[in-house]
Amino acid sequence: MKNAVSILKDHQLRNTEARVDVLNTFLGQHHALSHSDVEKTLGEQYDRVTIYRTLTSFMEKGLLHKVPVDDGSTRYALCNDHCDDHQHEDNHIHFKCTSCGNTECLDELPIPQVKLPNGYTLTETNFLVQGVCGKCNG
Ligand SMILES: [Zn+2]
Ligand SMILES: [Zn+2]
Ligand SMILES: [Zn+2]
Repeated sequence: MKNAVSILKDHQLRNTEARVDVLNTFLGQHHALSHSDVEKTLGEQYDRVTIYRTLTSFMEKGLLHKVPVDDGSTRYALCNDHCDDHQHEDNHIHFKCTSCGNTECLDELPIPQVKLPNGYTLTETNFLVQGVCGKCNG
């Protein structure tokens, strides 16, 4: 697995302490994190604005993608290697566990193609499946 410093380099992001720490927070988890989750982990060291800016630049550079959740908050998850600053390719299903509340990427499960009526253009597809995750099922 790649470390935070080399991932930043791959995405043409200058290596700052805040970026390394935020990225490591994601690398250490297998589920999507909200701004406040990151803040809870790193809040002693960085203020809200720094964390917010770091998350935004990670989205722009193809390191993180937004994960749809039903509670109105925004969560972020690590992208796979196919994403860069030109295009995100996170067309996979997201799974929310109703037991532990974690949302994870099911990278190997692509979102089914949606065929829109004539005259419609697609900009984004979100697919959230809810249930009980493997960990909670034991
Ligand atoms: Zn992406
Ligand atoms: Zn669970
Ligand atoms: Zn995802």
